[in-house]
Amino acid sequence: MEHNTGKRIVVVGAGIVGASLAYHLASKGANVCVVEAGEIACGVTATSFAWINTSHSAPDPIAALRREAIREFHRLEAELPDLNIQWTGALCYGAGTDEALLAADHTSSTVYPARAHIQMLEPALKNPPEHALFKAEEGALDAVQATHALIAGAQAQGATVLTQTRVLGFRTVLGQVTGVETSQGTLDADVVLLAAGTAIKTLTGLLGRPVPVEPSPSVFIRYAARPGLVRTLISNTEMEVRQRADGTLLVAEDYLGDALEHHPSAIARRAANAIRSELAGADSLELQTACVGLRPITEDGLPVIGHLPTVGGVYVCSMHPGVALAAIVGRLASEEIMGGEISSLLLPCRPDRFF
Ligand SMILES: Cc1cc2nc3c(=O)[nH]c(=O)nc-3n(C[C@H](O)[C@H](O)[C@H](O)COP(=O)(O)OP(=O)(O)OC[C@H]3O[C@@H](n4cnc5c(N)ncnc54)[C@H](O)[C@@H]3O)c2cc1C
Repeated sequence: MEHNTGKRIVVVGAGIVGASLAYHLASKGANVCVVEAGEIACGVTATSFAWINTSHSAPDPIAALRREAIREFHRLEAELPDLNIQWTGALCYGAGTDEALLAADHTSSTVYPARAHIQMLEPALKNPPEHALFKAEEGALDAVQATHALIAGAQAQGATVLTQTRVLGFRTVLGQVTGVETSQGTLDADVVLLAAGTAIKTLTGLLGRPVPVEPSPSVFIRYAARPGLVRTLISNTEMEVRQRADGTLLVAEDYLGDALEHHPSAIARRAANAIRSELAGADSLELQTACVGLRPITEDGLPVIGHLPTVGGVYVCSMHPGVALAAIVGRLASEEIMGGEISSLLLPCRPDRFF
């Protein structure tokens, strides 16, 4: 632990991104206060499929950042075993697993199993494909549990956490932010770190620099199922599914609009039918929850990470996929904030590209 600065940092938002930043900053000796409008992990983090997925179709300006994501989670779970990451690997096939994706995949542990091997990986698959992409090093976590583990880790390093406390505005002296106004009073800060997900546009708008982070809906579904049905994480044309040890089946689906036939419960019924036709032993699926989560996505799709231009004392941090990148971004952004070390991996993510 590097206790040398005592820099006062207010982290706005206790989703997985804010929690990781708080943990890394507190570990470096910052005087961290996390301010959360609701409860810990009550935002989109609560409805995340939470796949630590490092692939992306080319061209990908943050390919180098993604490549570091898995190594950083291994580092982080050695520090915080309660992160409880399931390193099951991910089996991908069908649309989306096209040549561009294969070309963009640089991980050494990726293999291209044929049908017999696929059937061994996922015995319940009724019609395994001829070929697939198996990304052995990938995994997933419970995003809510991981966020609590990160917050507990930050608290163990001296961070304080204020829940049910909304940031309403900023205190500014000569163009420098010196604190935040909250529903519970004012907090002084040397740096205000905005990890407020889809609320970032409104908050930065208060400072005259609205960062274009927009809510992008996606559907998250949970079913009760018999344990052992899905062993890896399966992503194919019909479904994106993984399973927790207690049997809960987790599914992510596209949001199709607000018409009645696209209500999350209707999507969940169709997804259950697709899963039943893909997997033997899935007949007894029982819907637990189906809801829409709002992913924070910038207009160019890249993360937004860095100091807000022309306003001193504000650092912005928002991204999709926020779970996959939480560990690497938590470390790199905390190094920038604490030591002024500029990370080349974060250069494509700077907020000033929008102004
Ligand atoms: C269906 C679905 C599937 C997904 N699958 C994946 C996946 O497989 N892999 C992946 O990496 N990502 C995935 N994501 C995206 C991922 O969940 C998000 O990128 C990530 O959770 C963002 O975390 P966050 O901390 O930035 O945001 P949030 O969790 O929304 O946290 C922001 C917090 O800020 C608080 N806040 C807002 N305004 C204020 C204020 N004024 N004052 C105080 N607090 C405030 C909010 O209450 C909230 O708790 C998925 C999302 C969905 C919906």
